[in-house]
Amino acid sequence: MEYSYDDQNIFAKILRGEIPNQTVYESEHALAFRDINPQAPVHVLVIPKGPYVSLDHFARDASQEEQVGFMQAVAEVCRLTDTDGGFRAICNTRTHGVQDVPHYHMHIIGGRQLGRMLQG
Ligand code: 5GP
Repeated sequence: MEYSYDDQNIFAKILRGEIPNQTVYESEHALAFRDINPQAPVHVLVIPKGPYVSLDHFARDASQEEQVGFMQAVAEVCRLTDTDGGFRAICNTRTHGVQDVPHYHMHIIGGRQLGRMLQG
């Protein structure tokens, strides 16, 4: 698999500060911010700061520090938001996974009862 990162994607612009965001948590390796079109009371996107297009790209090529830093950001998002009742973590990937933004991101969705996953 060849991964090609487009630095003009919207999350790259958010990381460069060219587009505002509602930050929930930020660290050396990751940024977490509220989704612009929330699907539930909690809908946060966690992204690495490095140029990775997808979960599989990140899992293959990111350093251990980046990977640990990313998961620490996920933990912080869960701590800072209403997820005690549960949540869903989603990483849409490429065409079959209906990924719109080609910068790896994990959706953390919760704060209400969700339906069962996979409608399509
Ligand atoms: P995907 O389909 O790639 O998994 O999800 C991309 C997500 O990014 C969507 O839920 C969409 O609402 C969100 N999104 C797209 N543009 C922006 C933006 O400019 N700011 C924020 N905060 N979220 C965005």
